[in-house]
Amino acid sequence: LFVSFEGGEGAGKSTQIRRLAERLRARGHDVLVTREPGGSPGAEAVRHVLLSGAAEVFGTRMEAILFAAARNDHVEEVIRPALARGIIVLCDRFMDSSRVYQGVTGNLEPDYIEALQRVAVNGVIPDCTLILDIPAEVGLERARKRASAVAVPDRFEKEEMQTHEKRREAFLDIAAREPGRCHVIDAQRSEDEIAGEIAGIVDQRLGP
Ligand code: C5P
Repeated sequence: LFVSFEGGEGAGKSTQIRRLAERLRARGHDVLVTREPGGSPGAEAVRHVLLSGAAEVFGTRMEAILFAAARNDHVEEVIRPALARGIIVLCDRFMDSSRVYQGVTGNLEPDYIEALQRVAVNGVIPDCTLILDIPAEVGLERARKRASAVAVPDRFEKEEMQTHEKRREAFLDIAAREPGRCHVIDAQRSEDEIAGEIAGIVDQRLGP
C-alpha cells in the first residue's frame, strides 16, 4: 500500500504521518516513512540544492525537472522496491505537490507538469492520497510558530497568503478530479480526530 500525504504549510502532515506509522507498526505491519523532495541519497542531494540559495538562479522549468529527477530516483531506489516487498509506504508529499507548487503557483503548463510526472513516477502512483486541508491563514500561523524550532527555508517562507490560498484550491481541485485516490481531510480539527479519520481510511484500504 502506497499512501501519500499532501497539503500546505502547517497542515500537520508530519505529525499525522508519525501517528499513522506508529499505529500500523503496532498492528504488525512493516512501514516505511519517507518524504519529498528527498527520500533516497540521490534525491536528498537534489533536495539540498532545491531548498538552498543556489536554487534562486533556477527558472521554474529547471526547478520542476529537478523535482521530477529527485522523485524518479526516490521511486526507483526506495518506493518501488519497498512496495515489492509488501511494505506500507507513507510519503510526505509526492506528485501532487509538483502539480500544485511547480504547476499552479509556478505557472507551468499542466501538460508540461504531467509529462514530467509520467517520467518521475514511472507507473508508481499512490493507492491513496490524504490531502490535509487547512485555510492558508491558520496553516501559515502554525508553520511560523514552529519555524523557530525547525529551519524553514526563507525563499519558501516569504510567499504570501494569496499563493497559499491558491495552492489550497489546487489541492482541492486534484481531489475533486480523482476522488478514488484522494481524500480531503479537514486539518483544523484536533490531532486525535484527524488521526482517527486517517486510520479509518487506511484500514479500509488495507482490507480485512
Ligand atoms: O511542508 P514541507 O516540509 O513538505 O515543505 C517542503 C517545501 O518544499 C514546501 O513547503 C514547498 O515550498 C517546497 N516544495 C515545492 N515543490 C514540491 C515539494 C515541495 O516547492 N514538489
